Amino acid sequence: MRAARSGRLILPILLSPDPVLNVRCTPVVGDRTDLARDMLDTMYAAPGRGLAAPQVGVTERIFVMDATWKEGLPDPRVFVNPEITAREGAQVNTEGCLSIPDVPRRIARPASVTLAFDGVKGRRSEVFTGMAAACICHEMDHLDGILITDLPEAPE
Ligand code: ZN
Repeated sequence: MRAARSGRLILPILLSPDPVLNVRCTPVVGDRTDLARDMLDTMYAAPGRGLAAPQVGVTERIFVMDATWKEGLPDPRVFVNPEITAREGAQVNTEGCLSIPDVPRRIARPASVTLAFDGVKGRRSEVFTGMAAACICHEMDHLDGILITDLPEAPE
């Protein structure tokens, strides 16, 4: 039996050019509930809107996101074995990355994405738009070892 955890655990965030950030991550097998909780605590403390497992040294396909908490609307999300199954439209945002502090970059992303992922009751699918869609693309790139500095900068 696992002992109950109390308090927050803030994990160290790997910084570019750490080679772990360039690894293509493998599917999650088993329960990663504790890791997800630690990743959310770490993301909020950073403070960021998204954090992918390789950024804390775990090369598995899981990321956490809260696209709206900085606007006062907390919405903590955990995505296990996520896969983008559809993309529509386009948007350009200036993105930051917790692994590349203070190097913002203008990146073109789809305006909306459909994301399939493992939920509590099995595989499910959900559509995301705007900031959440851009954030999901950013974190999905992390799971494939891709950083914003690997992407072309979008024109003004
Ligand atoms: Zn990042």
